Amino acid sequence: RTEIFNSLVELNERQKILTDCNLDVASCVLSQFPHALAESRIALIDAATNCQISYAHLYRSIRSLAYGLYHAVGVRKGDVVFLVAPNSLLYPTISLAILSVGAILTPANPLNTTLEIAKQVADSGAKLAICAPEELHKLIPTKLPTMLTTKTSDGTLLSAEEFIECFDPIDLPLERPTQTDTAAVLYSSGTTGTSKGVILTHANLISVISLLKWSVSASSSQNDVFLCFIPMFHIYGLAFFVLGLFCSGITTVVMQRFDFQAMLDVIKVHRVNNIPAVPPVILALVKHASNMKCDLSSLRRVGSGAAPLSKEVTDGFREKFPWVELRQGYGLTETCGAASFFALDEDAKAHSGSCGSLLPHFSAKIVDIETGSPLPPNKEGELWLRSPTVMKGYLRNEEATTVTLDPEGWLRTGDLGYFDEDGFLYIVDRIKELIKHNGYQVAPAELEALLLSHPQIVDAAVIPLENEEAGQVPMAYVVKASGSELTENQVIRFIADQVAPYKKVRRVGFISTIPKSAAGKILRKQLISQTQQRLNSR
Ligand code: AMP
Repeated sequence: RTEIFNSLVELNERQKILTDCNLDVASCVLSQFPHALAESRIALIDAATNCQISYAHLYRSIRSLAYGLYHAVGVRKGDVVFLVAPNSLLYPTISLAILSVGAILTPANPLNTTLEIAKQVADSGAKLAICAPEELHKLIPTKLPTMLTTKTSDGTLLSAEEFIECFDPIDLPLERPTQTDTAAVLYSSGTTGTSKGVILTHANLISVISLLKWSVSASSSQNDVFLCFIPMFHIYGLAFFVLGLFCSGITTVVMQRFDFQAMLDVIKVHRVNNIPAVPPVILALVKHASNMKCDLSSLRRVGSGAAPLSKEVTDGFREKFPWVELRQGYGLTETCGAASFFALDEDAKAHSGSCGSLLPHFSAKIVDIETGSPLPPNKEGELWLRSPTVMKGYLRNEEATTVTLDPEGWLRTGDLGYFDEDGFLYIVDRIKELIKHNGYQVAPAELEALLLSHPQIVDAAVIPLENEEAGQVPMAYVVKASGSELTENQVIRFIADQVAPYKKVRRVGFISTIPKSAAGKILRKQLISQTQQRLNSR
């Protein structure tokens, strides 16, 4: 605990230096470059090809690509660059090169459909797209100037890979952004409605870097091998594996996407010891690892975030893998990722089911959802957070910003929870509309709008249905037009044709009216508890 306290003091000093000198986030990341070990130290390994790149190579690549983006493409400070690609060795380079020219990064899930991509491109005001070759067809309708991440054989489009090879790494004589300028726009539905652009400033992301530096130096060594399958377009992956890259000097094995058997193989081959994960992965380890060929002896720590990890799964994991520390964290896109975590394993073991204690920089209060008054320990209410990592607001959405951020800078998380007397946080439910499927966000309002566009549907409501494997799945309640013969499968297919696979409606219930409040708001809690009762009575 003394060590943690001392490192906290150091963290506060570092944070003050970083904010006082008004660095932008890219300069801040690059200033952490580990010169002493750069040439030899492997930064990233591609799990599929075993291709490796050193920290020195990474450092040069970022500056070469930034030079190319600035001089050959004309990207300037404040321009929005849309990035859609799966995890790769190039992903951190591209993201940091975009930030290096002072442009604004808006990353997207490559599972998104053409329509979903068009929406984000339009909403963010993107000027340029950079995409993996297999995503190019989704960008054609947007008519946005587009670059590829990697070279293709026909060579008709420029690629980030070629720029890295062609241009010398040169320091750019650029107009640098200031810390209040926007650095990234990530998409989240927040507490209500459809997806909104979360404005993260340079100051927000710099605060994340100082937090990461603190947590990595407090708990990892430079010889650690991390595994990254969490998506780099999500704040969890972006903060950890893009912004945190130079802070740690660690080696990261990158998987394009999650695959259970491939993960087990990679752990064995690369002697992985640290995995930031999500609850479905931890559940899969508990249920299936002992029946499969694997060697998990190298593992030291597994983190869990992005969705709730139950006490049962936590205890099951500890019983099966007693040599591995399992620590849960909690955070939101709107807080640039983690707001709470466990700094000590003994605390994690003593508070199973908790998401840890608040990270440095954060203040919190638990607020009574009826009266708005602050509550004491062990009382459940809405969690409100304040920290230098809290977003500036939602892009061009004054109304949602005012609802979510109060005038004193408190962020209403829409999560229900409590702190115990020792300051450990427990999240018990979600008051907001959000559904989380495998850690991905699904906004009920988006699916409801699509359902209402069906000519035979007159009203609809979408709720979360608990699911052991994925956490939750979306279920739709539908009011059919009179005389309609619409079936469950037809509704499921209608939605599946228009959304990314993780947003698919998995069940449909037909009802005569959707329960609503006097103000016309869908009474979701009522629908959820009625559904639960019906399922339990079966
Ligand atoms: P996102 O912005 O996609 O990271 O989603 C943030 C939301 O995920 C939070 O507001 C919570 O509802 C949920 N969440 C994240 N971490 C946890 C956790 N450890 N326990 C419960 N819910 C979580």
